[in-house]
Amino acid sequence: MKIIGVGRNYADHIKELSNEVPDEPVIFFKPETALITRNQPFFYPSFSNDVHYEVEIVVKISKHGKNIEEQFAHKYYNQIGVGIDFTARDYQAKAKSKGLPWTLAKGFNGSAPISGFKSLSDFKDIQDINFHLLLNDETVQSGNTKLMIYNVAFVVSYISQFIMLKKGDLIFTGTPKGVGPVKVGDNLKAYIEEEKLLDFNVR
Ligand code: MG
Repeated sequence: MKIIGVGRNYADHIKELSNEVPDEPVIFFKPETALITRNQPFFYPSFSNDVHYEVEIVVKISKHGKNIEEQFAHKYYNQIGVGIDFTARDYQAKAKSKGLPWTLAKGFNGSAPISGFKSLSDFKDIQDINFHLLLNDETVQSGNTKLMIYNVAFVVSYISQFIMLKKGDLIFTGTPKGVGPVKVGDNLKAYIEEEKLLDFNVR
């Protein structure tokens, strides 16, 4: 399986990092070794001094597809979860300043903690889902999928023009504003609507 991230997909987050609104989705990869499941702890990497949380809705691909038309894209996913797109902001800043890829800043070990997945049939509309993140029991990010610049169907269709999607692939769909640093000892809890789906510690 592969993990695909969408960068800069919420306008309020683009503003907080003083980035430009992209004219096409910004796509990046994380390797499978980035995954953390079952609320296992995240181990702070020794190479960075500025790892940020980014809470995101994660879409799980349910069947193979390439060149998927946007109007049929909803047939290619049926589950969502919540995840953290951990980002070594210091390494990302270095890469951005040189116009280089974000691979190490986004793909390091443990940079993709994910929750279990819920059936989309539990929700009325994938583009109207509330999600939020607590850092040490204080709300630091909250968003709604209707605020995405590029909605899920568009993103799935777009990616599939370049990269074949396969069953089990995960798409991190972007973060709303409120990103910030974590430190050893922190606790993170992420919710979809009022349900806590992710609860883990930084070691
Ligand atoms: Mg992100």
